[in-house]
Amino acid sequence: MGQNNHIKVGIMGGTFDPIHYGHLATAEAVRYKFNLSRVIFVPSGNPPHKVARAITDKKHRYLMTILATVTNPSFEVSTIELNKEGYTYTVDTMKEFKNLYGENFEFYFITGADAILEILTWRDIDTLLNLCHFVAATRPGFNNKDLDDKLEYIKGKYGKEIFKVEVPSLAISSTDIRRRVAKEEPIKYLLPEAVERYIQKNHLYRE
Ligand code: NAP
Repeated sequence: MGQNNHIKVGIMGGTFDPIHYGHLATAEAVRYKFNLSRVIFVPSGNPPHKVARAITDKKHRYLMTILATVTNPSFEVSTIELNKEGYTYTVDTMKEFKNLYGENFEFYFITGADAILEILTWRDIDTLLNLCHFVAATRPGFNNKDLDDKLEYIKGKYGKEIFKVEVPSLAISSTDIRRRVAKEEPIKYLLPEAVERYIQKNHLYRE
């Protein structure tokens, strides 16, 4: 898997609208499993596939990610995508990380299995698959057959193995949290208290 004397770093890509304990548990589980030196959370900028719903202002998503990760010394947050104008593509993000860190670093891009299912539609996928490893986090009840078929296909066509990690606490979802807030249902214990308070203070996700 990892080459000798390479420093392994996780890149946790997501919209984080809002960040919750499922994301944090995923990052920690993958950090441990792959012996990563740290995990850098990268809130997405303006991904081309997000057309169905308006995403919360990037300033809010960034600050919530900071609040959620601040107590873990192995976690960092990057503004690499948030500072960009126009659409943001993972291939450009990973090229930038490669340039910033140099050849001694090896990257593991971690994201949700639903997103990985669509990876073949991502920009410049041939290049991207050579820039980093990929880890797909599955939530309970996820249809593993579709994912396994896709991963098998990618392995056959590109010779690249995409890792799969099951994360029980990904039963928590951002969509459910947004729905709960809109219906004035509790969200306590689904996400860090500081993030819960931030949502209340800034009146996020209210209809
Ligand atoms: P999404 O469609 O919002 O989320 C897909 C699923 O994955 C959701 O169930 C989501 O749950 C979960 N998920 C998202 N990020 C996760 C994470 N880091 N750990 C665990 N579960 C996660 O996907 P997205 O957030 O927009 O995109 C995911 C990443 O893929 C981003 O970094 C994005 O930039 C990248 N991407 C790149 C391209 C491209 O380069 N063309 C295209 C698509 C996506 P929650 O809703 O609970 O988070």
